[in-house]
Amino acid sequence: MSLAKSIYLAGAKRRNPGLYGWYDFLKESESWELQRLREYQLQELKRLLLMADKHSVFYKNYFRKHGFDPAVTSLEDLKQLPPVSKTELILKNDQIHTDLKFDKRFFCETSGSSGQVLTFWRDERWDSANRAAILRGYSWHNVLPWESNIYFWGYNIEAGKQLRTRILDMFQNRYRIFDYSPKTLTRLLQKLKSATYMHGYSSVIYELAKLVNEEEIELEMPLIKMIKGTSEKIYPHYQEEVQNAFGRRMISEYGAAEASIVAFECTAGNMHVTMENVLVEVEEDEVLITNLVASSFPIIRYKLGDYVKLSESRTCACGMEHPMIEEVRGRVGKNIHGYEHKYPSLTLYYVFKNLFFEQGLKFNYQCVQENKGSLTVLIKEPFTSRGENLIRAEFGKYFRNDVAISIIFSQDFHSYTEKLKDFISRIE
Ligand SMILES: [Zn+2]
Repeated sequence: MSLAKSIYLAGAKRRNPGLYGWYDFLKESESWELQRLREYQLQELKRLLLMADKHSVFYKNYFRKHGFDPAVTSLEDLKQLPPVSKTELILKNDQIHTDLKFDKRFFCETSGSSGQVLTFWRDERWDSANRAAILRGYSWHNVLPWESNIYFWGYNIEAGKQLRTRILDMFQNRYRIFDYSPKTLTRLLQKLKSATYMHGYSSVIYELAKLVNEEEIELEMPLIKMIKGTSEKIYPHYQEEVQNAFGRRMISEYGAAEASIVAFECTAGNMHVTMENVLVEVEEDEVLITNLVASSFPIIRYKLGDYVKLSESRTCACGMEHPMIEEVRGRVGKNIHGYEHKYPSLTLYYVFKNLFFEQGLKFNYQCVQENKGSLTVLIKEPFTSRGENLIRAEFGKYFRNDVAISIIFSQDFHSYTEKLKDFISRIE
């Protein structure tokens, strides 16, 4: 056994005693038929709801207030319960936590787009189920977690935390990128020679791919098996650059700290829902997550805050019957305000998707609204009159004369100190 493998397994066993048991279960259930998966979900959903009713003051009251019977007899019964927002998870935090005792639990912290911080305790079973879902995804791509890898992260870690992070990385055979200057990225190319996978924020992997393509760098990465993008939307033009630079697409892992791994992309390019761990619903284009494995902090019909489209296709070349997410379309943000009407921030997705697929125009963009009836469109690429005209025409289809558009080219709006946002509203 290699040293890296021994270190990884010892650490995993210590931190997550339930990890490999859950992994074995997921490897077995990945070949279950859809009907069997649904039956399993119903059984786990019922268990979760009855547990929440008994042990969480918030859910006990929430069920009563909405006349909801937690002893559900079908998955559809859940629809009678109104969704829960992130604000509720923050404000009612104490009452949502259950009074159950756990041998082991982990403290988690996650920040929202509006700067609110959500904290919660994650019990060991939940943590292990989540990690096992990632490992199952890796297994589809023949990746072993202890293999040499590169992690694209950053987000301003303080010096004190850096040492701890570096030690943890060493245990996981991981080389982490802390900043994204072209110089750092060039140094990284050396590391790529021994890496078997790379993962991290999709916009950062995209930036590296662009650099490789622009500088016409000859890459040597003979061992690479997987490039995984997380945490941010993967735009079609990201994939084009990544394919050109690395000879393969970026695969997608979709999830959130409080929701767990919601879906993982298979070798056939489809994002399969982790049905064993989460129940996914889509209402009015928004995804709702029920976490089937969380007992310390139950998450039920939670508005994760993304626009998601489920695939209508029922079959996948990989053979799995787990339903697929066709696309994560972006964050649910505030509305865009016209003089007369309001528009969902999803409109921006349609505008730039059309420009890409119909006109072949690749724009990195961020839109900012300071006042009703006007919208500033920041574009990273340099000015062209064709680009400007087509952006105006495309916005015109949705906004007509209700929103005045001003376009500014050659803008650097990605600070790499936080996730890239496609829309910022400063209207109260
Ligand atoms: Zn598949």
